[in-house]
Amino acid sequence: MKPFTYERAATPAAAAAAVAQNPGAKFIAGGTNLLDLMKLEIEAPSHLVDVQDLKLDRVEETADGGLRIGALVTNTRLASHPRVRRDYGVLTRAIVAGASGQLRNKATTAGNLLQRTRCSYFYDPNQPCNKRKPGSGCAAIGGYSRPLGIIGTSDACIATHPGDMAVAMRLLDAQVETIDASGTTRSIPIADFHRLWGSTPHIDTNLAKGELITAVTLPAPIGGQHFYHKVRDRASYAFALVSVAAVVQPDGTGRVAVGGIAPKPWRVEAAEAAMPQGAKAVASRLLAGARPTSENAFKIPLTERTIASVLAQAKG
Ligand code: SF4
Repeated sequence: MKPFTYERAATPAAAAAAVAQNPGAKFIAGGTNLLDLMKLEIEAPSHLVDVQDLKLDRVEETADGGLRIGALVTNTRLASHPRVRRDYGVLTRAIVAGASGQLRNKATTAGNLLQRTRCSYFYDPNQPCNKRKPGSGCAAIGGYSRPLGIIGTSDACIATHPGDMAVAMRLLDAQVETIDASGTTRSIPIADFHRLWGSTPHIDTNLAKGELITAVTLPAPIGGQHFYHKVRDRASYAFALVSVAAVVQPDGTGRVAVGGIAPKPWRVEAAEAAMPQGAKAVASRLLAGARPTSENAFKIPLTERTIASVLAQAKG
């Protein structure tokens, strides 16, 4: 690990300023992804700004009946919160499908959104990787691509967003609240938070340098039955090959978002109109324009079948 300096920020704006003013600085909270990346020297910040004292660890009701989740609320606390369990069951199910109990005890809401891809070439400094080293190439294209993306990818990168929580938050139309060095706040729809890779796969999100996530807000509950079905190579502690988050209403309408197939949680609102017609109709619209590799083309039928399973459970 490369040497770095460290400070604990006193306020959110001070934390944002400390990172904005130092090109080599990064925020750290739970550190469950960043420390791994630092040990491998894939990330090598020269300065860490610890945000754990910022009191961003509350879950509060909003005026419209929704929830405001502080950036430092741990995954374990969020998944077990009574309001989340009662009104946003898809979020609880998605969180507990991820990582391990120990990691969920430490991982935070903001950090979960910011975790980096698990493409194996990204973690191997001996391999070309445009995400780790811009312009170096992509070892996954023409290499081992079974777990990687089938849609929203580019000629520069075919990696996926690895998270589960973000898929449920996309389904629920969450908003990501931030603050910058000047104290200016903004609210980013989660649909616009993660980026498609395009020609700049080293940039994961639309956050500016030094912009700090302070909270994630969920709109008022939408009712319905909530599902999170994660298909992976082993029963626990594995990333999704395909995951389907869904809310199904009694009349068969609803919402669907998919993880494990794209650079961001993949939701196409126009596809949801086809839910009463069944999984095939939904999947064909959701995956229009997919560009799988020969190794991961199986994700197309797997997505359709996972949606079919969820819809069958809803009927049952
Ligand atoms: Fe790197 Fe993306 Fe290619 Fe993986 S898919 S090797 S993360 S550029």
